[in-house]
Amino acid sequence: MSDCLFCKILDGDIPADIVFESETAIAFRDINPRAPTHVLIIPRKHIATLNDISVEDEAIVGSLYSAARLIAAEEGIAEEGYRAVMNCNAAAGQTVFHIHLHLLGGRALGWPPG
Ligand code: AMP
Ligand code: ZN
Repeated sequence: MSDCLFCKILDGDIPADIVFESETAIAFRDINPRAPTHVLIIPRKHIATLNDISVEDEAIVGSLYSAARLIAAEEGIAEEGYRAVMNCNAAAGQTVFHIHLHLLGGRALGWPPG
């Protein structure tokens, strides 16, 4: 997708602080971090929203959570706890329409989100 910000990061057209890469996913630090650790984990495949995930994408989406587990361990937040969350559409605050897991940690996280 030529007009997708995260596809541009995947193509190397926009720089990012990449912390993880696999066959199906990459992860990079959020440009506007909301916690000491705030990493975005995205599939290499362009999928606009959680609503657009198909059964064929299940392995890809699973790989986002495998990445979250590995990155949380690397960041030293696995034991204290963290959150891995995907916003879907306007009411949830989705602003970039290429699915991404927010990996947030390094501080106490309120629940439920505001
Ligand atoms: P969401 O609101 O769930 O769609 O999340 C989009 C996230 O992308 C926000 O937390 C932004 O701060 C982040 N973001 C936007 N542009 C960039 C960028 N160029 N590099 C890294 N993160 C970005
Ligand atoms: Zn994209």
